Amino acid sequence: MNTNEKAVSKRLATRWSGFGTSIFTEMTELAKRHSAVNLAQGFPDFPGPAELLDATSRHLKASHNQYAPSVGEEALRDAVSQFVFKSTGAYFDPKLEVTITTGATEAIYAVVNAFVNPGDRVVVFEPYYDSYAQAIANAGGTLVPVRLHAPDTPVGLPSQNWAIDWEEFDAVAAGGFKFLILNSPHNPTGKVFTEEELERISTKVLKNDAIVMCDEVYEHLLFDDARHLSLCSLEKIRPRVVRVSSAAKTFGFTGFKVGWVTAPAELTRAVRLVHQGIVFCTPPFLQAAFAELLSDERWLERYFIEFRKTYADKRDFLKATLERAGFQVQPCKGTYFLMANFEALAGDVSDVAFAKQLIETHSVAAIPPSVFYLHPPRSLPWLRFAFCKSDDTLRRAQDLLLRS
Ligand code: PMP
Ligand code: GLN
Repeated sequence: MNTNEKAVSKRLATRWSGFGTSIFTEMTELAKRHSAVNLAQGFPDFPGPAELLDATSRHLKASHNQYAPSVGEEALRDAVSQFVFKSTGAYFDPKLEVTITTGATEAIYAVVNAFVNPGDRVVVFEPYYDSYAQAIANAGGTLVPVRLHAPDTPVGLPSQNWAIDWEEFDAVAAGGFKFLILNSPHNPTGKVFTEEELERISTKVLKNDAIVMCDEVYEHLLFDDARHLSLCSLEKIRPRVVRVSSAAKTFGFTGFKVGWVTAPAELTRAVRLVHQGIVFCTPPFLQAAFAELLSDERWLERYFIEFRKTYADKRDFLKATLERAGFQVQPCKGTYFLMANFEALAGDVSDVAFAKQLIETHSVAAIPPSVFYLHPPRSLPWLRFAFCKSDDTLRRAQDLLLRS
């Protein structure tokens, strides 16, 4: 759900009627209108790797310009299979278990619509990325949220992170479910699910004979001692796991929209059918460019060292800025988002009102996280700030936020 008017058209099909313009579009437009610094929408405002741009322009001229195979170009499926194997230890056969999609957004839509039937209960940890709710609604499923409790909420865990109350999770699981969505590293909280959490979730998935979609688009954006464990590397659950990832966050080209789904062959056949019906295929020159870079191990190694350092510096800079401005900032273990509590800065103000106020008074845009809830908590004094921005942009945000 988002903050603006939802009745887009009287003729809109009812399954879409709960949705309006995305919060990302809304806040980006608002930021433009107020000439504000956009720390709302998660896209880098600095150039991605030059090697990828070179490869893209070379392949634009050299590769074929006609439809790619619906399942994806062979070279990219091979490269993705190796890339995923290196980071998860799970091998996916490029012929039968890897599918190239038009970004993770399309992958999510294809996967949910491949497995969710009308009336199926779909467990999602909230706050959740907004496209899950839309995909579930279109499949006719019922989104059943399990809350990740904000750090100051006592849920019986000595956690400094957004935490699951296992009694709540068990109660939801006891009602049965067909499908579960797990996003780790997690947007918007920056939480990286632990092995113990994944084990407990897996047990219930198996008990319910359900399928899990794990959205791992932030798999390489990890900080400090954080270790991302992919569900597909847990043997017992692997036959049930459909893994989604994309080049957008890892390579800093969110507009290129190249993603992939890896899953056991039987599940892949279902995903491929739906993907074929949505877009059929993804532009061949983009696939060829990513295939080239993903296969270049030496380049990848150099790239990731620089990538993690760059983002860790940006995270630390923005965290310090927000803290100086009076926010209480949660540690971010993964993703490029910081969750900042504004209780000390404003009284009983909603996150949406505070986000709008921040644009008007300080010319800085952030995301109000209540849009990521089915039923937002009455009090949610948090904003999400994206730090995937140039040093200039972050310095400008600092000047604006520290201005009284
Ligand atoms: N999943 C999550 C959790 C995201 O934050 C995003 C945002 N970009 C996506 C999926 C969509 O990825 P893509 O840009 O590859 O469609
Ligand atoms: N995933 C990005 C974010 O969370 C935005 C994606 C989009 O604008 N559709 O900010």
